[in-house]
Amino acid sequence: MLKKLFKSFRTPLRRGKAGHSTPEVLNRSQHPIERGEISRYAISVVERLQNAGYQAYLVGGCVRDLLLDLDPKDFDVATSATPEQVRAEFRNARIIGRRFRLVHVHFGREIIEVATFRANHDDEEENSNQAQRNENGRILRDNVYGTLEDDAQRRDFTINALYYDPSTERILDYANGVHDIRNHLIRLIGDPTQRYQEDPVRMLRAVRFAAKLDFDIEKHTAAPIYKLAPMLGEIPAARLFDEVLKLFLAGYAVYTYDLLVDYGLFGQLFPASAEALRHNPEYADRLIRNALDNTDLRIEQGKTVTPAFLLAALLWPALPARVLKLQERGMPPIPAMQEAAHDLINEQCKRLAVPKRFTIPIREIWDMQERLPRRSGKRADLLLENPRFRAGYDFLLLRESAGENTGGLGDWWTRYQDVSDSERRAMIRELSSKEESASGPRKRKRSGSKRKRTADSGNDTGSGE
Ligand code: ATP
Ligand code: MG
Repeated sequence: MLKKLFKSFRTPLRRGKAGHSTPEVLNRSQHPIERGEISRYAISVVERLQNAGYQAYLVGGCVRDLLLDLDPKDFDVATSATPEQVRAEFRNARIIGRRFRLVHVHFGREIIEVATFRANHDDEEENSNQAQRNENGRILRDNVYGTLEDDAQRRDFTINALYYDPSTERILDYANGVHDIRNHLIRLIGDPTQRYQEDPVRMLRAVRFAAKLDFDIEKHTAAPIYKLAPMLGEIPAARLFDEVLKLFLAGYAVYTYDLLVDYGLFGQLFPASAEALRHNPEYADRLIRNALDNTDLRIEQGKTVTPAFLLAALLWPALPARVLKLQERGMPPIPAMQEAAHDLINEQCKRLAVPKRFTIPIREIWDMQERLPRRSGKRADLLLENPRFRAGYDFLLLRESAGENTGGLGDWWTRYQDVSDSERRAMIRELSSKEESASGPRKRKRSGSKRKRTADSGNDTGSGE
């Protein structure tokens, strides 16, 4: 309803080049944002700063999302106060960041992020303590403070450069952001190539907002992405990892993936998976897509999503060929899986700094794929007790959903979990008799031999290739 009201409202908006120093001003009657929709903590931060004599506004995603009748993820504040001055106003405030210093004001679990107005860098400021660029124009440090007008120009997209003052309930629009919101366009402020060179992560942000808002990327903003995508290689792996989680955990992962692939960005984030997509497109694409689809569904249903499972799926298509290569060199299946997993994760961590709390479960989920076919004797029951069983089993079903033939292993495990103890025993007996008829009678074990039987049901490493 609000959205409709906003859409039907007309102002003679300037259609010129994005970015100017006199803002369009939307009064309270000209936009749909109600103070009641805004976090009371965010309002109190703004008012406190204003009462102390500083300029302060709500800015960025929260204003954009409220105009679109969406629930903002968080509330960001922009102010003329320096980080130290902000900190002095609040008991519960901490200065964070080095590349981009800002203040977090804590209210229980809610954090209001307060950033000081920034300006674009002048040449003489470069390589000072506040500002730094590398030879490609990438901004390494962005702590040059400026005016509100400056701040609007250094923001990424026009739709993210809207300022809302809760005291007057007015919106200030310096970059035709309202026009682009109405027209569903993601448009960079300024020269796109230069803005991507300053910060290549803006390419990922363009895709993320396009997917989240179902907006188009304006053609000049879209044009340089494919060519500049390799610049993501310069971004610190820790920052890229954070961006990847934002990309895939926002509830629009499938659409985001499509855009990343189309713009040549996916391969910059997951090089080994991109290669697997070239070698085995149908299986790899289906597996990734199904995992992402499932993630979106879970988010829609308010269920939790484990990034480890998602990452395990995004990387999996690159694994089987590597496992096979090691097996061909004579390595047994389980060690081959472990070594290939170790190498793939190490390689991936050079791009995205995946923390240990995720790499360990990723490896356990993969390891489980090699163990799930081995069910004889007590093995099936031991696997069931394994804390990673559920994830491993779900992963097996995911592989099957992508068209991989596991000889009905998923169904077998589904049934095994469901039936009584005696039926379980029967299922295990049935397995070994099948094997015996397939491979002839087994030799009797030598007495005293400690060697265990291997490969109960064939070597299904799940290559799907
Ligand atoms: P959401 O919080 O919904 O993901 P957001 O637009 O609020 O979206 P944040 O990452 O919270 O995104 O950033 C807040 C604001 O800071 C943005 O709206 C934008 O104005 C500015 N901003 C963030 N990252 C950049 C960047 N890399 N370059 C320029 N401006 C940026
Ligand atoms: Mg935000």
